[in-house]
Amino acid sequence: MDLASYIRDIEDFPKAGVIFKDITPLLSDPKALNKACDVLCGFAGHMHVDKVVGVDSRGFIFAPLLASRLGAGFVPVRKSGKLPHTTISESYELEYGSEILEIHTDAIKKGEKVLVHDDVLATGGTANAVCKLIEKLGGEVVQCNFLIELTFLNGAEKLNGYQIEALLQY
Ligand code: IMP
Repeated sequence: MDLASYIRDIEDFPKAGVIFKDITPLLSDPKALNKACDVLCGFAGHMHVDKVVGVDSRGFIFAPLLASRLGAGFVPVRKSGKLPHTTISESYELEYGSEILEIHTDAIKKGEKVLVHDDVLATGGTANAVCKLIEKLGGEVVQCNFLIELTFLNGAEKLNGYQIEALLQY
């Protein structure tokens, strides 16, 4: 099954000059959805995982599915002001301006093995900030996995030292 054929390019979204990788055709096809889960789980199948951290917002689609299959808990990392309990935060630079991500302080215990999942790895700024949050709480990032890696943006370089896996590379 060619999962790449379920990813749709949307030109000039969310702004001019960007080609957005739209994963919704893959999500809406039962076989493609299941296959994508199989492959993502396979990346981590050999390792012990306590928590799967999903990144706001499209990381929330697969992360709980992976957590359930791997026998792990799911933890959301959210944009500023969305989590109700005590949080720590990490800011990072975007092309224009900056973004703040937050995690509940009690979401990860010291020494827990953590898998990070997001839909797309672009410049790596988002995933790098997520890894820092996990490490501030004493967690160990065992892998960062993605549906899509945009290799021409060199995100893997920013995540130097972490194990990176991606289902599809462009
Ligand atoms: P980065 O921080 O530059 O690596 O960007 C990654 C974040 O931007 C992820 O949370 C993605 O959801 C989002 N993102 C960047 N490019 C795309 C895209 O083409 N399709 C969907 N999401 C994207």
